[in-house]
Amino acid sequence: MLRLSSVRLSSRQFSTSSSLLLAKAKHDVVVIGGGPGGYVAAIKAAQLGFNTACVEKRGSLGGTCLNVGCIPSKALLNNSLRYHEIKTDSKKRGIDVKGEVTLNIEQFQKAKDTVVKQLTGGIEMLFKKNGVTYYKGDGSFESEKQIKVSPVEGIKGTVAEETILDAENIIIATGSEVTPFPGITIDEERIVSSTGVLSLKEIPKRLVIIGGGIIGLEMGSVYSRLGSKVTVLEFQPAIGASMDQEIATATQKFLTKQGIDFKLSTKVMGAERNGDVVKIKVEGAKDGKKEELEADVLLVAIGRRPYIQGLNAEEVGLEVDKRGRLVIDSNFQTSHPHIKVIGDVTFGPMLAHKAEEEGVAAAEIIKTGHGHVNYGNIPAVMYSHPEVAWVGKTEQELKKDGIEFKVGKFPFVANSRAKTNLDTEGFVKILIDAKTDRLLGAHIIGPNAGEMIAEAGLALEYGASAEDIARVCHAHPTLSEAFKEANLAAYDKPINF
Ligand SMILES: Cc1cc2nc3c(=O)[nH]c(=O)nc-3n(C[C@H](O)[C@H](O)[C@H](O)COP(=O)(O)OP(=O)(O)OC[C@H]3O[C@@H](n4cnc5c(N)ncnc54)[C@H](O)[C@@H]3O)c2cc1C
Repeated sequence: MLRLSSVRLSSRQFSTSSSLLLAKAKHDVVVIGGGPGGYVAAIKAAQLGFNTACVEKRGSLGGTCLNVGCIPSKALLNNSLRYHEIKTDSKKRGIDVKGEVTLNIEQFQKAKDTVVKQLTGGIEMLFKKNGVTYYKGDGSFESEKQIKVSPVEGIKGTVAEETILDAENIIIATGSEVTPFPGITIDEERIVSSTGVLSLKEIPKRLVIIGGGIIGLEMGSVYSRLGSKVTVLEFQPAIGASMDQEIATATQKFLTKQGIDFKLSTKVMGAERNGDVVKIKVEGAKDGKKEELEADVLLVAIGRRPYIQGLNAEEVGLEVDKRGRLVIDSNFQTSHPHIKVIGDVTFGPMLAHKAEEEGVAAAEIIKTGHGHVNYGNIPAVMYSHPEVAWVGKTEQELKKDGIEFKVGKFPFVANSRAKTNLDTEGFVKILIDAKTDRLLGAHIIGPNAGEMIAEAGLALEYGASAEDIARVCHAHPTLSEAFKEANLAAYDKPINF
């Protein structure tokens, strides 16, 4: 055990770890991991008056989400959609493009990298503003109340030496990592994970994707728009993981129309790189039919798993379940009352906004004993085109739970703004309680669904009925009028369809 001088930093003081030559420091709250869960928890804890530190080993803040997840993938989705629309959609809008429209892949990647840099740097500014001490280093439990921060080779500004942090409270927010596919070696060149696929240097002629979940479908959309022939292999008989089945079917239909091939109920038996070609062996999950596919790039996107490598969590008595998640109670608390866990590394959907909500709640619980996350009201969005977004219960969940419900639907083809925008694919589907008309779930496939779902979340949180929503004046012409009309359709009749 180190016995060096202890230095207590003031709660408003910020120090970059490079200039910090302390071997020991003391904090009220130490957060391990600077992703959406960890950085938000750290800022909130500091705002609540705690002397707070955040330990992050990646070299930049923002975690998976900002560095290799939500943000870079959305940059590629947005810019590939524009490219595709300019190429295929301009003429009917009265825009003649003279000359060839071509992709500058270097600039395309640079646009993504620039936004990642700006946003991750922005969190460092927020740490400074709120007085959070940022340790660039690898955090591990030295004891139940001590975190050791070790320098990380190759990371600029990493802690100069091993530093021990005495912590009154610890929040673990170490996130998740790509789930490997047994027997398939990721080289991030020809066989890539969700990280490698964000930085391809050329557009593959043939892209095969293992996994028809959100990440696989988003990346499939990007490269299909840029000219790849995309094939999605999915073990389940449907894509879209936890989507409402009707929405998943509609999603597959739209993506098929865009040129993406789907092989459902298909088991991947193995894949090997042979020079610049990847050979993938598959078998029908139902009929056992064997087939070999070829790809220029294979994306393995079968999900993510909790990450606690090197943390010494089990050594200090923290429980890990069969799926590798740190076990907590409803107050994010482990078997040690002063150690809390949030985000991807514990239960619940692996989503950035879920981690953020938990970050705020965990800090508030430390301060007041109370904090709140409504797990029945966490939206999910797939940023394809049309977008897919949902919140609350799906139709299959309501049937399984034996809840009587009514359905209201409204197609975007009957919405004036969608018509004006020449962007009419999809519909809004509303599920309400058959007796009370209370909103139970909202499922949208259509333009801007990811923004529109916020209205459903607000309504769900406040226990609104379909009539409550439909009687709210919605601006005209807007896409959100389709949401209002779907609610009208759920308890009465729509006006415009
Ligand atoms: C391609 C892709 C697209 C995605 N798109 C979306 C999206 O559109 N919307 C959405 O909501 N979610 C999306 N996600 C999921 C989202 O990124 C995660 O749910 C979110 O980042 C989880 O936040 P977190 O704070 O729990 O963990 P993370 O973001 O994983 O952050 C954990 C951090 O802890 C650090 N760390 C781990 N161990 C230690 C240690 N011992 N010491 C110091 N630091 C440590 C890691 O370096 C990491 O930076 C996407 C993910 C991927 C891969």
